[in-house]
Amino acid sequence: MMNELEQFKEDSAMSLFGRSREIARKGGQCVKCGEFNLEFRDELSRKEHGISGLCQCCQDEIFGGPEEDDNDEKEIVLNFAHKIFKDKE
Ligand SMILES: [Zn+2]
Repeated sequence: MMNELEQFKEDSAMSLFGRSREIARKGGQCVKCGEFNLEFRDELSRKEHGISGLCQCCQDEIFGGPEEDDNDEKEIVLNFAHKIFKDKE
C-alpha cells in the first residue's frame, strides 16, 4: 500500500509523464520517454534518476545539456523538483 505522499508522487508522475514513476525507477526505465538502456554522465545524474526517474536525455532536456556547465542552476531546479519527488529516507 502507498501512503499519501507516495500516492501524490505517483499521481504527479502520471499526470506529468503518463507513466508510473515507481515502475520506471524499479525497472531502470525513464519515466518520461520510456527508455530502458540508461547511461548517466555523472553521479548527480544517476541519483537524479533514483529520485525523479528521468534518463540522461530527459534530464538534459529539462535541466539543460552538458554545454551549460552551470551545475548550480541544475541543482536549484532539482531542489524544486524534489519537493515533489524526494524520498524521505
Ligand atoms: Zn528519458
